[in-house]
Amino acid sequence: MPNTNWLLGLACPRCGSQGPLQIDTLLTLTVTDAGPVAFDADNAAWTPHAGCICPACGQSGCVADFTLKTRAGRPGGSLSPGVTDA
Ligand SMILES: [Zn+2]
Repeated sequence: MPNTNWLLGLACPRCGSQGPLQIDTLLTLTVTDAGPVAFDADNAAWTPHAGCICPACGQSGCVADFTLKTRAGRPGGSLSPGVTDA
């Protein structure tokens, strides 16, 4: 079943796994001298150039390498919640 939320349009190009995927994310934290105040994963974001690993088979690359192609050869779907267009 294709991903419909955070991993929309993504799958492992080697084994076809729909996830989970390990993605190098950009995450803004509120940090005091004692450490981070809170961890809110909903703030995580990544670019198509972020590192990505498939835990199922060990395939590694960048998020763009894991982006499904449409018949027109363009990345499938709209941007997932975590994807930035930067
Ligand atoms: Zn894989």
